[in-house]
Amino acid sequence: MFIDLRSDTVTKPTQGMKEAMFTAELGDDVFGDDPTVITLEEKAAKLFGMEAALFCASGTMTNQLAIRVHTLPGSEVICDKMSHIYLYEGGGVSLNSFSSLKLLEGNKGRINAQQVRDAINNPDDIHQPVTRLVSLENTMNKGGGCYYQLSDIEAIRQVCNEHQLPLHLDGARIFNALVETGESTLTHGQLFDSISICLSKGLGCPVGSLLIGKKDFIKKARRFRKVMGGGWRQAGFLAAAGIYALDNHIERLKEDHARARKIGQMLEGVPFVEEIYPIDTNIAIFRLPDSILATEFVAKAKEHELGCVTFGKHLVRFVTHLDFSDEHLMEFERVIKGIAF
Ligand SMILES: *Cc1c(COP(=O)(O)O)cnc(C)c1O
Repeated sequence: MFIDLRSDTVTKPTQGMKEAMFTAELGDDVFGDDPTVITLEEKAAKLFGMEAALFCASGTMTNQLAIRVHTLPGSEVICDKMSHIYLYEGGGVSLNSFSSLKLLEGNKGRINAQQVRDAINNPDDIHQPVTRLVSLENTMNKGGGCYYQLSDIEAIRQVCNEHQLPLHLDGARIFNALVETGESTLTHGQLFDSISICLSKGLGCPVGSLLIGKKDFIKKARRFRKVMGGGWRQAGFLAAAGIYALDNHIERLKEDHARARKIGQMLEGVPFVEEIYPIDTNIAIFRLPDSILATEFVAKAKEHELGCVTFGKHLVRFVTHLDFSDEHLMEFERVIKGIAF
């Protein structure tokens, strides 16, 4: 049995999701008449109390479209130095938006209002790029799945308001944060100009992300999506999976979090585990001793039928998900205790 904890993207559609997909009503989304895509977009917008949404192939695409629409060439985007938009989107901000990033050093990837305030350039100084966007990530992937306190987001929103800056959320795992805090999507929807959510992570869809925002914003994003080659036709097959996931797979994320915490407990006392990072949601990260490289560990784990990824020179990440059951958890314990260096 291969235990795949490389990412929460590795899940396969459940039987119920497959049935929803194969019975979906279809149209041509480039013509704007795929009824299932329309239903998904309306559902997502309503969920966050926002006006409109755009269904896209990936979270990279929804983030990149948001940044493209919010900025002009020569802009600067404020974000944490561990942000996905900086580390894992292929330099897309410079390539797609001709803009630079102002990288802040937050608390495990979470920046605060004072840092944002200090990072805004003087618009009258011709030496500096023009600050045009602030981008947050919640939960914070590279920060081990930690999440923002609502009051910290509110304070950043306040700074954005004072400087008339839009605020974007990379909410690839926003539902992981919300099931922990009990806060509502509507509360978070009010705080951002745009939100990107992933359906293909903890929600268990095969493909898909949504960009959510104001009507005119989404209209512009739709144009850029087409330019990037992201127009798709009978996308209702995939949208049906998204609708199913929003209806059925949000609350259960708590189970993933409980299993991630159990992984943390199982790692305690394992000889090669130097430190276990705090586990707030579905991500568990541990540090190896200086004598063992993360790449070596990942290769050895794979031989033992355990999938994980490197997250730094000596850091290893496990992500729990819909296809990781209690039975897999027991097997995980057996495997991790059987690995020796
Ligand atoms: C996964 C992820 C994305 C989007 O990734 P895609 O693979 O392009 O869908 C964006 N932001 C964060 C924080 C992520 O974890």
